[in-house]
Amino acid sequence: MNRRPPPEPPRPELETTVADWVRATWDETMSLRRWWDALADAGFAFPTWPQGLGGCGATRREAHTIAAALAAAGVIGLPDGNGPNMGAPTVLTHGTDAQQRRFVRPVAAGAQAWCQLFSEPGAGSDLAGLTTRAVRDGDEFVITGQKVWSSFAHGSDHGMLLARTNPDVAKHRGLSWMMIEMDQPGIDVRPLVQMNGAAEFCEVFLDGARARVADVIGGIDEGWTVAKTTLSHERAAVTARRNRGLPTMPAGPLGGNLDRPVGELLAARRSRPKPSRRRGEVLLGSRTIIELARDRGLARHPVLRRQLADYHIHSEVYRLTNQRVRDNAKQGRVGPEASIGKLALAMLAHRSRDLSMALLGAEGMLVGPGTTQDGRIQQVALSSHVPSIGGGTNEIQRNIIGERALGLPREPPVDDDVAFRDLRR
Ligand SMILES: Cc1cc2nc3c(=O)[nH]c(=O)nc-3n(C[C@H](O)[C@H](O)[C@H](O)COP(=O)(O)OP(=O)(O)OC[C@H]3O[C@@H](n4cnc5c(N)ncnc54)[C@H](O)[C@@H]3O)c2cc1C
Repeated sequence: MNRRPPPEPPRPELETTVADWVRATWDETMSLRRWWDALADAGFAFPTWPQGLGGCGATRREAHTIAAALAAAGVIGLPDGNGPNMGAPTVLTHGTDAQQRRFVRPVAAGAQAWCQLFSEPGAGSDLAGLTTRAVRDGDEFVITGQKVWSSFAHGSDHGMLLARTNPDVAKHRGLSWMMIEMDQPGIDVRPLVQMNGAAEFCEVFLDGARARVADVIGGIDEGWTVAKTTLSHERAAVTARRNRGLPTMPAGPLGGNLDRPVGELLAARRSRPKPSRRRGEVLLGSRTIIELARDRGLARHPVLRRQLADYHIHSEVYRLTNQRVRDNAKQGRVGPEASIGKLALAMLAHRSRDLSMALLGAEGMLVGPGTTQDGRIQQVALSSHVPSIGGGTNEIQRNIIGERALGLPREPPVDDDVAFRDLRR
């Protein structure tokens, strides 16, 4: 039987410790760099990570208590982004002690921003089929190829690169996962403007770019195992709420915030115009949609009324599914549950888009000032595809749920014994 460990007792003294620490440390004139450094030194940045690397070896529940105490203190939240969400956990799992010291501490203190250089124009779902080559040259690899969809690559100083180091073995076996510095002559980053008006992801062209052999994580040609760890953390991050209730800031020097006083950053955040804040939203809460239906006199429309009830039910199912994912994560389990939460979010986002557009009617085609809620609803609808593609499409999540959660047979492998260079492409 799958027995859960007994719940940990609440830790009110930990809350007091964190609150006292904030009172003694937080100063509105200190720079963001100093604040994040202090959080990492105290082990409160990412409490479950090891001491000295931004954490204090806390359990998930203790980490939750620390996060709640920071939120109650009204301070700036932890560094956010690919580094903490998927990169550092990958290095903590597969990196050597020296690599953990070199890469995890700067992420914990927000001193670096990382992008994920996995997907390519011809390799997304079939990630192991990627063609970017890394050829050894002494203590370095020389890298040539193209990446795409690389979120925030234009604001990142480091990349988590998945590249082919051996084309003579089957496609999953000749890949390596390596850290690469983005500011070098062989890398050209070009942001792509999305249909919601944001330019959050980029094309990245690598032409003779260099990475150190010492910065390969998990061993040369062992990158597929390492990449799977990254992807499982990415899926979990889609539904996680680590910084809940706390304002977040982009990490790294290119974010431009590290040397600004924290008080000034908080004030700027409070006065920020609304539409940009809403770019990250991919769905509307059921209360917001019901309110919209009332405002437009459609709450009693027989067909829409049924759809509103349906949306509310699915929102609750998503909330509870997500709660289950988070509870599992608190017990240290990151597995197929994350795919269930991510899929539920993606399906709800599409429902939100369809229902809100039905309520707006022709006005759904207009964005900007003077439209309902200054174009928020349209903006959210234009972002509704994000969770059904990013971090793996819905079809891929269904495959993962089928194979890893339900134990269904795997798709028969057709290319497991064929060297990558002999594959038909
Ligand atoms: C907002 C956003 C941010 C992203 N950020 C990053 C990033 O930072 N770094 C990065 O490397 N990538 C990133 N991606 C890329 C993302 O991981 C890929 O888009 C995704 O894996 C799908 O790959 P693809 O676009 O090549 O589609 P394809 O793989 O070409 O898929 C096309 C269609 O075929 C279906 N399909 C493919 N294979 C199967 C199968 N075996 N079974 C059933 N159906 C299948 C897919 O579900 C999809 O509907 C991001 C994407 C988005 C939308």
